[in-house]
Amino acid sequence: MPPMRGPGRNAFLTEEEKANLPSVTPQLLKRVFSYLVPYWKQLLLALGCIIVSSVFSLYPSILTGRIIDEGLIGRNMRALVFLIIASLLVTLASNLIGVLESYLNNWIAQHITFDMRNAMFRHLQSMSQRFFTSSSQGDIITRMTSDIDGVKNTITNTFTSILSNVITLIVALIAMYQKNWVLATLGLLIVPVFTIPTRLAGKTRWTLTRESQALNDEINGILNETLSVSGQTLVKLFCREDSEYERYRTINRRMIDLNVKESMAGRWFRVVLSTVSSVGPMLIYLVGGVLMMKYSSDISVGDITVMVALLGRMYGPVNQLLSFHTEWVRSMALFTRIFDYFDMKPEVENAPDAVIPKAPATGSVEFKDVDFHYDPERQILKKVNFSLRSGNSVAIVGPSGSGKSTLVNLIPRLYDVTGGSVSFDGTDVRKLDLTWLRSQIGVVTQETYLFNGTVRDNLLYARPDATEEDLKSACVRANIWDFISSQPDGLDTVVGNRGLKLSGGEKQRISIARILLKDPALIIFDEATSALDSISEAKIQEAIDPLIESRTSILIAHRLSTILAADEILVVKDGEIVERGTHRNLVEAGGVYTELYNTQFARAMDMGSTEEQK
Ligand code: ATP
Repeated sequence: MPPMRGPGRNAFLTEEEKANLPSVTPQLLKRVFSYLVPYWKQLLLALGCIIVSSVFSLYPSILTGRIIDEGLIGRNMRALVFLIIASLLVTLASNLIGVLESYLNNWIAQHITFDMRNAMFRHLQSMSQRFFTSSSQGDIITRMTSDIDGVKNTITNTFTSILSNVITLIVALIAMYQKNWVLATLGLLIVPVFTIPTRLAGKTRWTLTRESQALNDEINGILNETLSVSGQTLVKLFCREDSEYERYRTINRRMIDLNVKESMAGRWFRVVLSTVSSVGPMLIYLVGGVLMMKYSSDISVGDITVMVALLGRMYGPVNQLLSFHTEWVRSMALFTRIFDYFDMKPEVENAPDAVIPKAPATGSVEFKDVDFHYDPERQILKKVNFSLRSGNSVAIVGPSGSGKSTLVNLIPRLYDVTGGSVSFDGTDVRKLDLTWLRSQIGVVTQETYLFNGTVRDNLLYARPDATEEDLKSACVRANIWDFISSQPDGLDTVVGNRGLKLSGGEKQRISIARILLKDPALIIFDEATSALDSISEAKIQEAIDPLIESRTSILIAHRLSTILAADEILVVKDGEIVERGTHRNLVEAGGVYTELYNTQFARAMDMGSTEEQK
């Protein structure tokens, strides 16, 4: 099938939609229908229901003719009662079958979106770090929610309404042609003509709805930005309350104007609809009357009434079928957007022959000629070589942006090297089972992430089966137990939105407790750059000590106390290891480390001693 393009047919699409018309290829259709295949039995049943209920729903209109001719004009009471009861029963049956059909329809659509959402969540979880750092969070959420909801509507509405409309039209036309071909042809001609004004009214409404959706998004954006914790802090500190209020008020006003327009357009839409749909029956009465009186055709009053009733039933289906193309393009665009996400390949994947070592991990690490870049234009790491033996610790120091965090991210394979190799326990990390590898490594990141929940929930994330005793002992060792036990709710203290109810130091110590519970073979500690006062520093240090004690560890360090705790110091500058050794050797060498020591570490030490003197 060629791509669906062409002037005129897309008049009801927005400019943006027209610019992004999806190519409807056989592959796309096959893929869309593959989601329906598991539910073919239910689909078949729904199909049967649609056919029966569409035919049944037209029957009362057809019976009207007989009610008039045989019952009323023929003055036959028995026939009248019988036809009325039959008509009522058929309507009831049609409605009941309609209920079953919409149940099946919804059931199928919900199950398909259930499958699709789960598959998408699983797929997104397997995506690499690069995907999350480069995609906007809003885009990811939109695809997971409204795009998939759109697909559900496509299945429940578009597919089924096409089918039932086509069937209704065919049955109505057959019934009309059986009665009188002249009136039937007239009906066939006038229905599409009279749907044009309604479609134009519909288009205006649609444009207004799109505009108000866009405004709504904008309002949500403002609310999100200004009423979030960080946003409000920024607004307050820069005294932007009034200008933010003005921004909100302006857009709110536009929204109100648009809403009024939108509801008036709705009113006009109904006016146009009821006016034009009353012209059609009048024409049928007129032509039918002329045929009956002037040409003494054998057409009866009942036949003309049936024609009018059937014509009335045709407006809806014709209207919907005429806008089918728009619906179809929108649905296909949604499917394409979703499939685009499904087709993205995770950069970091488990090798098909990935191994899970039998022996317990020791945490040793080796970097051999490691090169890395996020973007080919800019090399971040160049020929990095170092090895860390089991049980030892290494401190990585260097100016901000020199590549320290990047370097450690290669060990749990948040990214893969672009040259050279990283080995864990003597095996290239790309050959190890990813889940196994990551479960052997504990990372305390610069920015501690806590889920909104209690301290306990956050700790159990590392080890769901940990006992109360385990939790307490981890907290004691991470030097956070005093704080937790001083809270009225203890371990059940709520940490707030992303842990914002806690101080930076408290969060970090909770995350250290979390790592202690995980008990990994290798610890990576990416120390926060912010300067701490000596009391907080001492508390963090007391928390780090049990963490790295007799365990293989890599410390990205900004404070002298952390650096001194390491067996070896690596100095990274512009993605290269420029110096390595012990603190004493490096200070004596008078290179980059000495410079860092004099500026960064010595200042931190000064701060510490000033605090102590206080
Ligand atoms: P700091 O001490 O300030 O935390 P760092 O030494 O840990 O710095 P990295 O975070 O490793 O530095 O960053 C090294 C370089 O890579 C920086 O110039 C940074 O801009 C760039 N960078 C980091 N993450 C990404 C990313 N996801 N995509 C592209 N570039 C990145």
